Amino acid sequence: MKILIAVEDKQFTDAIAEFVCNRQTWSDETEFRIIHVVEPLLLGPVGFGAYPADVLANYVEERHRAGRSLVLSIGTEIRQHYPSAPITEQVLDGHPKQVIIDTATSWKADLIVVGSHGRSGLSKFLLGSVSMSVLSIAPCSVLIVKLPPATPSKQEKATAETAAESLTTS
Ligand code: AMP
Repeated sequence: MKILIAVEDKQFTDAIAEFVCNRQTWSDETEFRIIHVVEPLLLGPVGFGAYPADVLANYVEERHRAGRSLVLSIGTEIRQHYPSAPITEQVLDGHPKQVIIDTATSWKADLIVVGSHGRSGLSKFLLGSVSMSVLSIAPCSVLIVKLPPATPSKQEKATAETAAESLTTS
């Protein structure tokens, strides 16, 4: 079984790691490939075109560094659970959905794992949904990991308790 995991940000990397490592059991033959895709900069007058080349180069390098740290963090966690599994971490350049699909196709992945921001309305229309695009054109099965429901903060708990108390005393 070959599992391709695509990660974009820390929050979803943690959620995907938790799901892959603690909610599922994979066979000993499972191979993992973890990728982060650095998107090309939008140049031209409305994009990054006005910035000097060295600033742009530093920016892209920083994005590669951040991506590398993401893929290594989830790779380390998977290694702790599956010490003998082959695990490859990669930072690639391109458009995320295309690179995810191309990698899954060329590597012959059996499963793609992505997260979902669950954007809706205008932001979904403007930003598109990587997970939905991958789901619709993937050459294999796709697992979309959602974030666990938010844990209420202490303040929210206190407010809820006060509201419940005033309901029972009135
Ligand atoms: P969505 O919220 O539907 O746009 O999907 C977000 C998910 O797509 C992320 O959690 C990742 O699994 C994947 N994804 C989006 N952008 C990237 C990227 N630059 N590199 C790798 N995976 C990505």
